[in-house]
Amino acid sequence: MSTTQFMANATIHLHRHDLPDGLSLGPIVAVDTETMGLRPHRDRLCLVQMSSGDGHAHLVQLIPQSLGGRGFDCPNLARLMADPATIKLFHFARFDVAVLQHSLGITVAPSYCTKIAAKLVRTFTDRHGLKDLCKELLGVDLSKQQQTSDWGATELTSEQLAYAASDVLYLHRLWEKLDALLVREGRRELAQACFDFLPTRGRLDLLGYEDPDVFHH
Ligand code: MN
Repeated sequence: MSTTQFMANATIHLHRHDLPDGLSLGPIVAVDTETMGLRPHRDRLCLVQMSSGDGHAHLVQLIPQSLGGRGFDCPNLARLMADPATIKLFHFARFDVAVLQHSLGITVAPSYCTKIAAKLVRTFTDRHGLKDLCKELLGVDLSKQQQTSDWGATELTSEQLAYAASDVLYLHRLWEKLDALLVREGRRELAQACFDFLPTRGRLDLLGYEDPDVFHH
């Protein structure tokens, strides 16, 4: 494991193959993934980022067996993603849930999606990207420069690690703001029903039912 200090109050912990034994990330863990692309059947999962919201980002790099790694043999990570007592907090959970379910062979639940929450309450705008929400709700400027970089590299750059970490470091603060808005607008229960559907949405997407969608006419 390597540890890097990259922002005033943030620390990155890079783990290879799995989360370490005995690491607790609390009842609500922010999660994001980096992959080789947007098609789970073609593009492998490379990195899973997690944070308990305390300024520490834990990054698990998954390395294929052909490169001397363990592939998707990561029991601690898989257990956490499927743990019914831990809420997984995502931004655009639909993709991450599908990728994790496909790669790890588990059902990811329970989940919370800040993008769904934002769409349900911020109906005055169509800007629901993580960068937009961090800017508007938290006054934080996120860089998206490394978004399309090569996440399959065996040695990730410090810029990649910092970018990957930043995608989970602010989700708890967004969740607090957005959840209060869901309550204010009377849509918390509707949001929960959407979150509860995420594992099924992931399965549908993996089967190719995203287009045409089963809900489409
Ligand atoms: Mn990301």
